[in-house]
This record gives sequence, structure tokens and C-alpha cells, in this order.
Amino acid sequence: MGRDRLFENAHKLIRKYRVTGGGKFHLRDFDPGDTGGLTAADKPRAQQALQSGIQALVRLQDMLYAHDRWALLAIFQAMDAAGKDSAIKHVMSGINPQGCQVASFKAPSPQELDHDYLWRCQRELPQRGRIGIFNRSYYEEVLVVRVHAGLLANEKLAPSLIDDDIWEQRYEDIRCFERHLHRNGTIVRKFFLYVSRAEQKRRFLDRLEDPAKHWKFSAADLAERALWKQYMSAYEEMIRATATEKAPWYVIPADHKWFTRIVVAAAVVEALDSLELSYPKLTKAQRAELAKLKRGLMAEK
Ligand code: ATP
Ligand code: MG
Repeated sequence: MGRDRLFENAHKLIRKYRVTGGGKFHLRDFDPGDTGGLTAADKPRAQQALQSGIQALVRLQDMLYAHDRWALLAIFQAMDAAGKDSAIKHVMSGINPQGCQVASFKAPSPQELDHDYLWRCQRELPQRGRIGIFNRSYYEEVLVVRVHAGLLANEKLAPSLIDDDIWEQRYEDIRCFERHLHRNGTIVRKFFLYVSRAEQKRRFLDRLEDPAKHWKFSAADLAERALWKQYMSAYEEMIRATATEKAPWYVIPADHKWFTRIVVAAAVVEALDSLELSYPKLTKAQRAELAKLKRGLMAEK
């Protein structure tokens, strides 16, 4: 389908960032600054490649919609300023808004806390034929909630339900939930945009210096940054426990946004490609009926 060569290479490259479980996963094996061998000089070509990836995505999404059997759920998790919003914006640009929905999950409301933690996410799952994007997700339940012990206490769980192995239990429930989704036609892809601590600092300073970006900065972001180590070990354990063949994690280098976007686009295209989508085919009788209707329309005075 005439895809750019560099994009095709990105397609091959994404395997390097895919985690499907099994072996031991270590964050230290990944480099936030990685650009897959491309240099800054390749940036314009990479931008072109991204455009070709986006075109492929638009075509596939159209087919996903027409085919109406599968849904794709893309989950984004990251530290602040890793570029979740901009990756979502760029990769999904050009997509028919009717076939795509984005849900952002913030600290749960009192109503949400009156339900189990999957409830609010289930309400936002994409229907068949659509792409659903979760900007943060139920994975916060083993990240921010794990790093801040007080949050768990706030979840209205009876003390007898808070076992020592509560995180293991949550991993297990999440694995089962995602298996259930897969078995029922929603394919799940999870993206951890892996930014380095140094690059986050640069981006925060940029937000503080540029008046147009002030709104993006929140003092709370610095409090989370101070817990970097705890977050990284929570991410590492989470990915180790919840990466599966059917619902893989992608650990995407996020220090260079142009590279992040191309890898995310390639992974989404690959996920849709794997579904072997096709436009619904008409039977001979249906085609004959259409031909008859066409003749009738043409004969109209
Ligand atoms: P932005 O790029 O605009 O900062 P964001 O995704 O960081 O986007 P915020 O409004 O800053 O959005 O923050 C959402 C906050 O909600 C995050 O700090 C996240 O950890 C927190 N959060 C999300 N889910 C939960 C949860 N289940 N329990 C507690 N906190 C949560
Ligand atoms: Mg934030």
C-alpha cells in the first residue's frame, strides 16, 4: 500500500520495544534517548515517514469501521511531560473522529470511588469498529496508588480486602480483564512513553519559561518527579506482570518526540494490520440488487 521505506523500517524496529512477557523485563535494557539509529539529520525524513504511517492508519481505521468486528484499545501511560498528549494528537490526526474516542483518567471522583476501579474504564471502552485511546487508565491503580500509600486507604475498600499481595492481585485481575477483552474482539496495545529524568527537567523548565506553556505546568508534577525511583520500579514491575502476547506493552523511547510518534504510529498500524481487515463483501444477489437500483436511479427523469 505504498508505505514509506523509513516507516516500513520503523515497523521492523518496533519489535525491539515490544514486551510480551515471558523473560525477565528490565527497564535498564531500554534507553529513553534511543532513536533507532536515526540521527537529527533524519528528522525531516522521519516526519515524512510519519505522514505515510498516518495515511496507512487512516485507511485501516476506515476498514476497521466498515468491518465492524474488532475494536482497538490503545493505552498510554507515562510520567508527566513525556509527551502522551502530543503523541496522541499527532498519531491520530487525520483519523475520522467518528471512529475514534479518547478518554483521560484523572484522580477518581467520589462517584467513581463508589465502584471497583475498572468500572470507569469499562464505560469508556471503544465499540466495535472503533479505536479507543486511554490517556492514563486502570494502570494508575498499580502506579500512583502504589507510590502514594494514602490513596489506597482512600479507595473505600474494607480492610479485610487489602492483602499484602494486593498489587499481585491487581496485576492478575488486569491480565484477566485484558484477556477477556481480546476474546471478545477488543485488541489491546499498551504504550509506556519512557522519558528520562533529565529530559523531563528540560521540558518542565521550558514550560516555566514559555508563557504559552505555563498552563501545562503544575506544582504537583514536581512532587511526582521527586518520587522518580519509586515510579520507575512500579512501572518495571507492572510491565513485567502485565505484558502478554495478546496485550503487549511497548516501552517507547520518549526523549525525542519525533521518534516517539513514529514508533507509536508503527505499532498502531501493525496492530490493525494483524486483524486482516477487509471491507464487507456483497453476495452476488446483493450486487445484482445494487445494479438494479443504479439502473432505476439513472432512469430517473
Ligand atoms: P497533563 O499532561 O495535562 O498534565 P495528566 O494526564 O498528567 O495530563 P493531570 O490532570 O495532570 O493530567 O493529572 C492526572 C492525575 O491523576 C495524575 O497525577 C494521575 O496520577 C492521577 N490519577 C489518575 N488515575 C488515578 C487513580 N486511579 N488514583 C489516583 N490518582 C489518579
Ligand atoms: Mg499532569
